[in-house]
Amino acid sequence: VIDELVALLGERAVSTSESVLDQHANDPSHHPPHAPDVVVYPESTAEVARVLSWANERGVPVVPFGAGTSLEGHVIPTHGGISLDLSRMDRVLDVRAADLQAVVQPGVLRSALNAAAGGHGLWFPVDPGADASLGGMAATNAGGTTTVRYGGMRTNTLALEVVLADGTVLRTGSRTVKTSAGFDLRGLFVGSEGTLGVITELTLRLWGIPEHAVAARAAFPSLEAACRTAAAIVGAGIAATRIELLDAFTVRAVNAYKGTTYDEAPTLFLEFGGSEVGVAGDVEAAAELARWEGCEEFQYERETEARARLWEARHHVLFALVHGSPGKLHKSTDVCVPISELAAAVAHARDSADAAGLASSIIAHAGDGNYHVLFMLDPDDREELEAADRLNAEIVEWALARGGTCTGEHGIGLGKLGYLEREHGDLVPYLREVKRVFDPNGILNPGKTVPLDTANTVRLS
Ligand SMILES: Cc1cc2nc3c(=O)[nH]c(=O)nc-3n(C[C@H](O)[C@H](O)[C@H](O)COP(=O)(O)OP(=O)(O)OC[C@H]3O[C@@H](n4cnc5c(N)ncnc54)[C@H](O)[C@@H]3O)c2cc1C
Repeated sequence: VIDELVALLGERAVSTSESVLDQHANDPSHHPPHAPDVVVYPESTAEVARVLSWANERGVPVVPFGAGTSLEGHVIPTHGGISLDLSRMDRVLDVRAADLQAVVQPGVLRSALNAAAGGHGLWFPVDPGADASLGGMAATNAGGTTTVRYGGMRTNTLALEVVLADGTVLRTGSRTVKTSAGFDLRGLFVGSEGTLGVITELTLRLWGIPEHAVAARAAFPSLEAACRTAAAIVGAGIAATRIELLDAFTVRAVNAYKGTTYDEAPTLFLEFGGSEVGVAGDVEAAAELARWEGCEEFQYERETEARARLWEARHHVLFALVHGSPGKLHKSTDVCVPISELAAAVAHARDSADAAGLASSIIAHAGDGNYHVLFMLDPDDREELEAADRLNAEIVEWALARGGTCTGEHGIGLGKLGYLEREHGDLVPYLREVKRVFDPNGILNPGKTVPLDTANTVRLS
């Protein structure tokens, strides 16, 4: 197998070194690792097509790998085979400033796209915190802190080039911001988690960098008060760029890790962007809504550096928790509820976690109704793992009963397969059919995203 891959792409593209295999066996979560047999680094669409058509003929599993930051076991090659690492396809091919668009290869990191777009006064706002690859972000339909204003990856992806399992190259979508040309396969490949095809090129929307931005912190007497304020800001049509919730446990962890001195209370981290006059009005209206819920003061971060420090602190929440729990691994819930349910949902999650005796942090993209309970778990402590699983299930059930979903942004991967069946059991047979159309031999990221039936199981001998 290895010799044939070397013959296909040359030695520079193929690695079986132990450290490289180890790097591709894990994600940052608690899911148990499993190494691929080989890591392949294509440098062009043609090379991706060559590897896939070869693997398809031999029934060899292929797991696309972007930056490896996904959280539900997505990139773990549970069936062995090839980890297809797209990091060498890392060119920003075009920035079409007049159309507010960029064309990129899948391995471009979001920081690199922002560096290229920034020179034109533009940015790509989708921000999952980690410096993920744009191919991986599209494949998971990532969202993040700015989704409340700009939408997630599906909203911001105009067109894709995709290589199917048999090596066929498709182009879907267009350079226009709207199209009604038949079924939306672009929207299907976004969020397909490497199970339907390999994304080899993306045309993405860019946005003007707001002329003026203000960030603020607002501490509240309760989690519910903070959530109600978030809902009120969204309901009032205030143009907030970010509305992020941290519970008191999380703020304490951040203070300990970053050396900040933020009030250790349920807190909204907010950002507003636009013209100076518009932002001033938005901030005033949001501060008034916060006051009604018992927030005594908006702490403003107007300077670029102070704003960057605030958002760095928010993005480093996971590192702060890891730092505070040496030897433990992280597990996160990702439910999303209609925003009117957020306050009750977060209070329910906090009470349930406390009742289960599990130290946990709650953060939320509060403007989207999407919240995460983060547990730090000892991988050898069976009881702790089971308690976290029970609690996760309870939180998902609570959300589903109120019109929510088991995953707002992280995706299904391995970790949410059971919950997908719980949420959309009636759709699963259709999802399997879709999988068969694009990947009839089941080689692409087998065992992820679509609950398997035995006919579709692939194993590398
Ligand atoms: C600290 C931290 C914070 C995070 N916060 C958020 C958040 O706020 N919002 C959020 O949405 N996510 C968040 N995540 C999760 C993660 O960053 C996202 O899921 C991200 O989109 C994954 O991108 P990646 O490049 O790392 O993809 P990978 O992890 O490498 O891959 C993810 C999936 O996409 C597939 N894939 C990768 N590249 C391609 C390709 N070119 N073609 C087809 N399939 C491909 C893989 O097979 C896999 O199934 C966070 C992660 C961390 C570590």
